[in-house]
Amino acid sequence: MILDGKKTSSQIKEEIKEELKKIKEKIGKVPGLAIVLVGENPASKIYVNSKIKGCAELGFESFAHYLPENVTEEDLLNVIRDLNADEKVDGILVQLPLPKHIDEKKVVETIAFSKDVDGFKPENMGLLFLGDKNSIKPCTPSGIVELFKRYELEVEGKDVVIIGRSNIVGKPMAGFFINEGATVTICNSKTKNLAEKLKGADIIVAAMGVAKFVKADMVKDGAVIIDVGINRTEEGLFGDVDFENVAPKCSWITPVPGGVGPMTVAMLFKNTLSAFKRNKKLV
Ligand code: NAP
Repeated sequence: MILDGKKTSSQIKEEIKEELKKIKEKIGKVPGLAIVLVGENPASKIYVNSKIKGCAELGFESFAHYLPENVTEEDLLNVIRDLNADEKVDGILVQLPLPKHIDEKKVVETIAFSKDVDGFKPENMGLLFLGDKNSIKPCTPSGIVELFKRYELEVEGKDVVIIGRSNIVGKPMAGFFINEGATVTICNSKTKNLAEKLKGADIIVAAMGVAKFVKADMVKDGAVIIDVGINRTEEGLFGDVDFENVAPKCSWITPVPGGVGPMTVAMLFKNTLSAFKRNKKLV
């Protein structure tokens, strides 16, 4: 059965829209999301445009900052410092990847803790691993958890295998599952006997960026499969899972597109709303 990220994200966005309307009636203000795009990366441009469109649909104010590919690191950091100080801005998103001459770590460090709606700052990552409810959680893992909640899928006691140990997906995903009482294995490109590990998993999260890597014979009957991968190939867009052959074997699976992707965007808006409520002392 399909874990429908498109439908679920629409529900979440509808809920946010309703809440926003009520807040606006009460205090006359709406959350502001600043989006910074450096350069001309076509995929990044599409993501940024869809986020700006989403802001308008939901009733957020958006502030887009387009900087040239050759912007200096200091100039970018100054833009972020200005946004940190801007009361109309509740969340700051710097679209990744950044050009090579810019240190991503410095950029993330410069974003104010209270406006880190991507949840990438070390403080937020630390709070997540401590199971602290006040952390702002990275959008992709957070969207996956939301799918588990809304489809009422059990996590406690399950064996989870995550393929990928990136700071934005694999690692925070592990934190979520550990907090929920699952037993978690995090794999990477050096992992031995990956197929064997996958075969024992109740839940697989594939976040590696290799088209159709997870095959039917690597998957246990009835497993839950979460496909994070976005791989644009000459044959089209594919996830990290061989969906066609894996889907008949598992109990639940996210499609690509229409699974994790739209959930990620919905969680960005949810995080921005939470940051706004915290900044305006509404919670
Ligand atoms: P990343 O930073 O490139 O990390 C990929 C991870 O996969 C690394 O830990 C790498 O291992 C591991 N890996 C690569 N090949 C492997 C193999 N053959 N066997 C086992 N592990 C392997 O990627 P990311 O940013 O986490 O993104 C992963 C995928 O998810 C990409 O396709 C990306 O486009 C997609 N994504 C989707 C969303 C969404 O909203 N749907 C959000 C973020 C990312 P090493 O560490 O050893 O190199």
